[in-house]
Amino acid sequence: MGRITLDKVSKSFGDVEVIPPLDLTIEDGEFTVFVGPSGCGKSTLLRLIAGLEDITSGQIRIDGADATNVPPAKRGLAMVFQSYALYPHMTVRKNIAFPMKMAGIDQAEQDRRIDAAAKALNLTDYLDRRPGQLSGGQRQRVAIGRAIVREPAAFLFDEPLSNLDAALRVGMRLEISELHERLKTTMIYVTHDQVEAMTMADKIVVLQAGVIEQVGSPLDLYERPCNKFVAGFIGSPK
Ligand code: ADP
Ligand code: MG
Repeated sequence: MGRITLDKVSKSFGDVEVIPPLDLTIEDGEFTVFVGPSGCGKSTLLRLIAGLEDITSGQIRIDGADATNVPPAKRGLAMVFQSYALYPHMTVRKNIAFPMKMAGIDQAEQDRRIDAAAKALNLTDYLDRRPGQLSGGQRQRVAIGRAIVREPAAFLFDEPLSNLDAALRVGMRLEISELHERLKTTMIYVTHDQVEAMTMADKIVVLQAGVIEQVGSPLDLYERPCNKFVAGFIGSPK
C-alpha cells in the first residue's frame, strides 16, 4: 500500500514560508510527478513526505496512519538519490545490500531481494563491479536497486536523471516507467522537465512558489490548463 495524504502541510525556513498550507492526495500505485521551475519547492515537498525535513504545520498520513512525527527510516518510503550517492568503495551487490543490512534483514533474504532487483534492472552481470566501473545509466540503476530491495510503500525520486546526458535520460525514463508498470508501487517523481512530466506521469502536480497551481493527468493539463502559468509551463497551445 502507498496512499499518501498531505493535510494543510506547510513549511517555513526561519521567517520564510516556502510552502504555504497545501492539501494533496497521492493514490496508491499512482505515478505522480511534481513539476515546476527551479526553487518552487519540489524538493522541499518531497523531503517533507520522506521525513527528511520537519513540516511546520499540518499532517502527513501514509495509508491512513499519522506519519507526521515518524522518522524517515520508519515511513516505509524509499528515496532514490542521484547515482553519485553510491559508495564508490563497495561493489554493486554491497551498495544494494546496504539498506537491508542497516535494517537487520537476514542474509538469505538479502540475497533473494538482490537477485530479484538485479534481474529487474539488468544488473545481474555487474554485481561484483564497483560504481566506478559502470556507465552512468548502470549507476543510476544501482541507485534504484538500493530502493527496490527495501520493498517500500512508495518510491520518491528527486530529479534522478539530471546528471545523465540527454540520450541516456530518455532510456532511463522508459526504464523507470516500465518498473512502475511491473511493481505498481506508488512513485513520486520530482523534475523541472516538462517532457519528463508529460511522458511519465499518471498525475502531474504543477508547483509555483510553493503553491499547487493545478493537479491533473497530462491530458487534463494540456487540454484544460487552469491558468497562463500552467499553459505556458506545460506548453499547451491555450
Ligand atoms: P526546487 O526543488 O523546486 O528547486 P527547493 O525545494 O529546493 O526547490 O527550494 C524551495 C525554496 O526553499 C527555495 O527558495 C530555497 O532557497 C528554499 N530552501 C530550500 N531548502 C532550504 C533550507 N534548508 N534552508 C533555507 N531555505 C531553503
Ligand atoms: Mg530540487
